[in-house]
Amino acid sequence: MREVRLGNPSTITRWFRLRTGGGPPKFSAESVSLTWALLAIAIAMLLGQAVFGFVGGRIGLADLALAIATALLVGSAVLNARASGILLERRNSEAESFGRLLQALSRSVSPHAVIEAIVHELGTATGADHVAVVQMRPGGTVLEVSFVSMLPGSQTSNSVMPIRQLQPVETRRSRTARRPAKGSEPAAPGPGRAGQVRGGASEGERSLHWQSQEDRREPIIDEFGRRVSRPRVSSASSQDHEAGARELADQIAYRLRDAYGLRNTLASPLMEGDAIVGAIVLSRRTGDPWTDSAVRLLNSAAGETTAALARVYSHQAAEAAARTDQLTRLPNRRYFDEYCTLVASRRRATDRVAILAVDVDHFKRLNDMYGHQTGDQVLRSIANAIQMSVRDEDVPARYGGEEFMVLLRNPKPGVAMEIGERIRTTVRDMDLVDVGVTDRVTVSLGVGSGLYADEPIAEIVERADRALYAAKRTGRDRVVEAWPAEE
Ligand code: GH3
Ligand code: MG
Ligand code: MG
Repeated sequence: MREVRLGNPSTITRWFRLRTGGGPPKFSAESVSLTWALLAIAIAMLLGQAVFGFVGGRIGLADLALAIATALLVGSAVLNARASGILLERRNSEAESFGRLLQALSRSVSPHAVIEAIVHELGTATGADHVAVVQMRPGGTVLEVSFVSMLPGSQTSNSVMPIRQLQPVETRRSRTARRPAKGSEPAAPGPGRAGQVRGGASEGERSLHWQSQEDRREPIIDEFGRRVSRPRVSSASSQDHEAGARELADQIAYRLRDAYGLRNTLASPLMEGDAIVGAIVLSRRTGDPWTDSAVRLLNSAAGETTAALARVYSHQAAEAAARTDQLTRLPNRRYFDEYCTLVASRRRATDRVAILAVDVDHFKRLNDMYGHQTGDQVLRSIANAIQMSVRDEDVPARYGGEEFMVLLRNPKPGVAMEIGERIRTTVRDMDLVDVGVTDRVTVSLGVGSGLYADEPIAEIVERADRALYAAKRTGRDRVVEAWPAEE
């Protein structure tokens, strides 16, 4: 007879192969239930036999005790395995959520996409009803709030939160309860010593001031009587950046609770190095406590979000720099050409465009007299004059050297000439004494107007160029409009 040993892995594997039709063993929920049932039957039989044996006098008390101990041992081993399995399952699902979050973030190429990616994954993985991402753009002076409900079909609500709102507030206006300090009114987050993160958060710097709580021992308590946003109390001083960041995240959560009527929130700061640039706030309608897994996931997501936003912003800044003329800060020729192509592709039958070509008169002479650097300063002043003379919808650009172009969108009859004249007189009337130029500086302009909707913009530019040439030829410091009849 062939010996079949229980516990031999190949036997078990064969059994599962039989059940699953070949291939590696697959543990379905059904097979897990089956093993549970077999185990329960085995223990019941073991205990039953021992009890009957004892009652029938076949076995003694010692044997009965041994059978009960064995059953308990097997039962506790099974429970332990099950508890470990559940823990492992939770860890795995947390790791999977984080993996999905990282993947979504790595694909995001705009701040909007980054926020969408976080909101979706975090909301689902943590069981939040709402997710808010509050962040300050580089050079920004307000916190931008994207508040998203996890209900299907809900729209993202975008708003701004002035930084001064993170200063102490009248708690009376707040809907969020905090445990009153002994014999006093409940305190709002923040009064007391003012701390600061990364130097001063002056205007334009992407970091925030934060306020230390005067009574750091007092936790923020929600209406369920629990600490709501995990304030980490600093034992050291306002130098403790992490505690400061947590406090600021709490203040942001506090503002959101006030603004949106939220109850149960969990916040984590967005930190770029030592600088705080915002926070992610989760909220839930019920008072269920946030799990450790949700807290871990939120903290990791906050770190990854800051990195993703920084990457996206630096990419955008690099793209903007590639489209900007460094001397005058006007759009450069590359941007102007791209924009013309874009406009051409989106023109409707009723759309009209006009082009102004602007060239500085005798600029070589000015350079020779005052030097190249002064020439540069004059170019900056002329760029400024052009920018001030055009309408918001028009696009001025430095086209190269001492030449500028302006694309006019839908100018009514006569408007192109009018704007051209405005540029000419503004430049001529510029006071350049400050940069050391006492002579009058003038420009000549050529105007080319589109004749029909789908006329190629390159043709209009060419017409403006010819008109500019005519302006130069006929004495400079003038505006000339070209018409096809003259060509
Ligand atoms: P015109 O009235 O016929 O336009 O005469 P012009 O002297 O302005 O024209 P020209 O094409 O002979 O000279 C253009 C000059 O612009 C020559 C060049 O040194 C100067 N220039 C081009 N780019 C820059 C710049 O970025 N900075 C400075 N300072 N000068 C520049
Ligand atoms: Mg020129
Ligand atoms: Mg010139």
